[in-house]
Amino acid sequence: MAELLFPRACVGCNRDGSFLCDACRNALPRKERHDCPFCRRVDTPYGVTCLSCAKRHALDGIFAAMPFQGNPTVEDAIHVLKYEFVTELAYPLGILLVDSVSATDLPIPDALIPVPLHPWRFRFRGFNQASLIADILASELTPGLSIPLRDDILRRTRFTLSQARSKNAKERRENLSGAFALYKGKNLREEIKGKTFWLVDDVATTGTTLEECARILKKRGAKKVFGIVLAR
Ligand SMILES: [Zn+2]
Ligand SMILES: [Zn+2]
Repeated sequence: MAELLFPRACVGCNRDGSFLCDACRNALPRKERHDCPFCRRVDTPYGVTCLSCAKRHALDGIFAAMPFQGNPTVEDAIHVLKYEFVTELAYPLGILLVDSVSATDLPIPDALIPVPLHPWRFRFRGFNQASLIADILASELTPGLSIPLRDDILRRTRFTLSQARSKNAKERRENLSGAFALYKGKNLREEIKGKTFWLVDDVATTGTTLEECARILKKRGAKKVFGIVLAR
């Protein structure tokens, strides 16, 4: 029945068989150059935050495997995953992210944290796309040694407008200020202190969401926090 309603067709070439065929996945553009996620003026290795922005920001960098805008297959694949609930797309996209991030010198994290969804949105969608991607990183990044995936550290406390709908950077910041918090009642402080984390998400736009999450972790003594996303 599901097949009839929603036959498997590649988001890139429309051929039957899978939601993203090997040819289209291999043809997806990879980001060649990376810049400071905040000022966007300085090319930095793997998207680490430049020295001058590092003074005012908690996040140590955003690594994106692919450029988002102007790449219809990337945009379609992520849209279909999130809004048409085709969770099967997480696998080919996640593997692509594993390939790209493995080629960097970013420190392997102590844990992966998917950017949380608000419970309302989670209930509506039935899954968190960031968790699906983080799950693939957790199992595939270091063969034979899985990295802990921690979805019990950060939670979303406020239901916020979709970031895509809020207009400018200032509005996004206001929209997200105080939108995340730590889970309570556990010895989280000890688990965060001195640790390196990768915050995993599907797409980063301004980086405000990742910065908000990083701020909370750094306040509790995290050593390094990087955003790791499919596309930006
Ligand atoms: Zn295709
Ligand atoms: Zn900068």
